[in-house]
Amino acid sequence: MYVLTAGYFVVAGPLRQAETVPIDLHAHTACSDGTDSPAELMAAAAAAGLDVVAITDHDTSAGWAEASAAVPAGMRLIPGAELSCESPDGLGGTCTVHLLAYLFDPESPALKAEQSRLRAERRLRLRRMAERMAADGFPVDPDDVMDRLPADSPGGRPHLAQALMRGGAVRSVDEAFAKYLGTGSSYHVPRTDTPVGTAIDMIADAGGVTVLAHPFARRRGPIVTASVIADLADRGLSGVEVDHPDHDEPTRQQLRALAADLSLLVTGSSDYHGTNKTVRLGQETTAPEMLDALVDKASGAPVVVG
Ligand code: AMP
Ligand code: FE
Ligand code: FE
Ligand code: ZN
Repeated sequence: MYVLTAGYFVVAGPLRQAETVPIDLHAHTACSDGTDSPAELMAAAAAAGLDVVAITDHDTSAGWAEASAAVPAGMRLIPGAELSCESPDGLGGTCTVHLLAYLFDPESPALKAEQSRLRAERRLRLRRMAERMAADGFPVDPDDVMDRLPADSPGGRPHLAQALMRGGAVRSVDEAFAKYLGTGSSYHVPRTDTPVGTAIDMIADAGGVTVLAHPFARRRGPIVTASVIADLADRGLSGVEVDHPDHDEPTRQQLRALAADLSLLVTGSSDYHGTNKTVRLGQETTAPEMLDALVDKASGAPVVVG
């Protein structure tokens, strides 16, 4: 793996290793369902005292260029994405999992085509959900929901949550999810996500590495069993996101033990979404040696150094 910018290791030599290196490997911008522009994310990461931040918008790499051009001096940016996938749940059914993909070649043809398909699915599905709610008398206008999407954003349920907030139907994004937007709701419209094994292969083919995002975040919906994670590790998954705001302490311990059993890397990240979530950048962090191991495995895109 190569690192852009001469001179970085001069600054980041042994002196720096003794200090903590705050690393947050999961953050969204307005290119998906966060509220900061990519440049604002970089400024917010610096203000939060981070040394390393990853940009992981849902199903797009559209924010990479702007973020790369705005990396503050001394900081590192890990370009990435969060892929929505369908997985066996380990109990005979399927469920949604999110795959964090880092340092892949965004021009890889198969991956580019699949991300483009997923973004189209997202738009269609968001409009359908808005239409269902409008038909039931909720104060949302499907055209307005779609028109308001930030440039480059394929849209997500948080955008519908914002529309419900503007219309006075709910007070917060969380309330909108709890009442109307969750997978169990009659307003929820599923997407055809990528089979998770296919997604792991696609990212590997594009020189990237994959980490299973918030695997045991039960409050979001059904989750996979440990045996599914073992199968994904066999398929080429590199790590699991253990320290995540949606994991309580016993869940973290369980996942950490599983990761050790399966020789998976362990990450920690905030899953920052700007004002669409209450989490803070750097609220959860990743150990430097875990990041180093991820970077060593990747060859599809460079770490960007400010
Ligand atoms: P979507 O990408 O359209 O499937 O919507 C899911 C997104 O909504 C995820 O990125 C979550 O981060 C965000 N979100 C915000 N609040 C919640 C919640 N209470 N439950 C599930 N997802 C949530
Ligand atoms: Fe999100
Ligand atoms: Fe996620
Ligand atoms: Zn996320």
